[in-house]
Amino acid sequence: MKVRLDHIRDVTRELSFSEPVESFSVLVAMVTSGECVFDGPVQATLSAGREMDHYRVEGTVSVPLRQTCSRCLVSFDQQLSSRFTIFFREGTPQEGDEDEVELAEQDLVSAVFSGEEIDLLPEIGEQVALAVPLKPLCSEQCKGLCPVCGADLNTTECDCSREPVNLKFAALKDFKVQR
Ligand SMILES: [Zn+2]
Ligand SMILES: [Zn+2]
Repeated sequence: MKVRLDHIRDVTRELSFSEPVESFSVLVAMVTSGECVFDGPVQATLSAGREMDHYRVEGTVSVPLRQTCSRCLVSFDQQLSSRFTIFFREGTPQEGDEDEVELAEQDLVSAVFSGEEIDLLPEIGEQVALAVPLKPLCSEQCKGLCPVCGADLNTTECDCSREPVNLKFAALKDFKVQR
């Protein structure tokens, strides 16, 4: 996932990549920690070109993702897909550099490169990592598990009373009655 600068100096190019998840250390770390499983390679289609004093790379990354629903604990698959725009400026990474740009142009990522080619791998990996849901849901309507008996309420019903019980409030009510 490298772009040679002499290929995009005068013309914007459409590119596509397919890269195994193992190439992205940030994604390998997520798999190792049990956060999710990737079922195939990371695929990116993008355009890269020069724009004044920087290079603009924009496109879409996608990867098949398997996660555990945070409500019903069922494992489910989805195709994760995310659009991105990254500006690459020539230079060396500096402390605080990135924050400055993020404040000014919220959705845009800025990165630096040096030499004759831009390595897209770290930034692409970061885009995928950001797109992975923190609280995955098998569906927006997922009913989750019964907090009393643990039944999956998407597939079964149970007779448990699931009225929220607020002990503090109940005690207060008694106190008022006594007065
Ligand atoms: Zn669910
Ligand atoms: Zn129940």
